Amino acid sequence: MHRAVIRGGEYKVTASYPEAESMSTMKIAINGMGIAGPALAYWLHRFGHEPTLIERAPGPRPGGYLVDCWGLGYDQAEKMGILPELLELGYHVQEVRWVDDAGKADASFDPQILSHMVDDRFVTIERGDLAMALFRLVDGKVEMLFGDSIDSIDQHEDRVDVTFEQASPRAFDLVIGADGLHSRVRELTFGPMEQFEQYLEMRVAAVEVDSYQPRDELTFISHTEPKRQVSRFSKRDDKTLFLLGIREPLVGPGVPRTDDEKREELKQGFAGMGWECPQILDALDQMNHIYYDVVSQIHMDHWTRGRVALVGDAAACLSLLAGEGTGMGMLEAYVLAGELALAGDDYQTAFARYEERLQPLIKQKQKNALKVAPTYLPKGHLAIFVRNVITRILPPRAVARIALMSVKDDFVSPEYEQQLNL
Ligand SMILES: Cc1cc2nc3c(=O)[nH]c(=O)nc-3n(C[C@H](O)[C@H](O)[C@H](O)COP(=O)(O)OP(=O)(O)OC[C@H]3O[C@@H](n4cnc5c(N)ncnc54)[C@H](O)[C@@H]3O)c2cc1C
Repeated sequence: MHRAVIRGGEYKVTASYPEAESMSTMKIAINGMGIAGPALAYWLHRFGHEPTLIERAPGPRPGGYLVDCWGLGYDQAEKMGILPELLELGYHVQEVRWVDDAGKADASFDPQILSHMVDDRFVTIERGDLAMALFRLVDGKVEMLFGDSIDSIDQHEDRVDVTFEQASPRAFDLVIGADGLHSRVRELTFGPMEQFEQYLEMRVAAVEVDSYQPRDELTFISHTEPKRQVSRFSKRDDKTLFLLGIREPLVGPGVPRTDDEKREELKQGFAGMGWECPQILDALDQMNHIYYDVVSQIHMDHWTRGRVALVGDAAACLSLLAGEGTGMGMLEAYVLAGELALAGDDYQTAFARYEERLQPLIKQKQKNALKVAPTYLPKGHLAIFVRNVITRILPPRAVARIALMSVKDDFVSPEYEQQLNL
């Protein structure tokens, strides 16, 4: 068995794949049950470990904003067997359209061209539906603590002592933070978020209302003004999703916590916008559970320390600009669980391999996402005009090629089931 050599914080793994080592079952706490958390629990359980999922929310939440699932994430969904469910619940968006004040189209493109370029392995799904599909995979198979959070982590040579906000203290072999952008496990183990956060000077809100009119089926419509954009998408069951993006300094520092505060700030931030915005801002009054957060990336040299590791947004948030955060979270979960299975009890080697395998890919994805930032919320009228003209005059295939160039990757996913003879 080859070991990871760790010198002065640098690690180097000196082997190709080892044979799977004999492994004892490890008790592994996973804080956070969004996307990466349940995916990790699924693979850890499949590879013979005992995960416990801890989630702050009182239960799994359906609904929410839409996520595109394709590429490596799509492959992961297929591996876990949830693809048929995602295809059934998902959408195949037919048009992305930008409109002017009066709702007249300024520019549009057909996202199916993008989909064709990845052999139609592309689906747009509610984040909550993806989370629910992953939850169902592990429901009844692994322990879950809802309405709770890890509160403290005390690492020892042979275990990690964990206290919770609600449950009684317990000892685990490993602790994993899958608790998103504002990860508590990262804060407890590595330090405050500000050390790792690259704030992109944007915020985004996602809200859903019932019975909104007008509806445009399978069309993602946006109205952009300098530093602000409001989008809507008509979902099934007479629901409509709105996505509101805004750049600093149109709103003040700090993200409000309560729905009332969020509503207030959104109403101020988006006041005076044309198109359907006044009606959309009025509709905010009937909404609860408003998603409103900073758009940030997380950059860390290491995602592991001692017996603690991070996955998903907690480790390396790409931001919505990448359109691949869920996919990368699922991939990270698979690689972390696979490397733990291959390394037997040697979690240090597994952690080093996990970082070594994925960090170059994820860092590239973060860089690609930053290139999209100027076009997501253009700062001025000229930039909006240029975006619209380019979208209008470029042949659709050229638009798709440019988009794909910035997100394509050469990563070949490991196949742990084969290596483990499962
Ligand atoms: C508007 C928007 C659009 C996006 N579009 C796309 C897209 O098109 N494609 C794509 O792939 N990705 C997209 N993303 C990114 C994607 O949503 C994230 O990358 C992904 O959800 C990360 O998964 P995660 O499991 O790491 O974190 P999360 O999904 O954030 O889950 C973290 C979980 O941890 C829980 N939690 C938090 N704190 C604690 C605590 N202290 N204790 C216990 N539990 C806790 C939370 O309640 C949550 O359930 C988008 C994001 C946004 C905001």
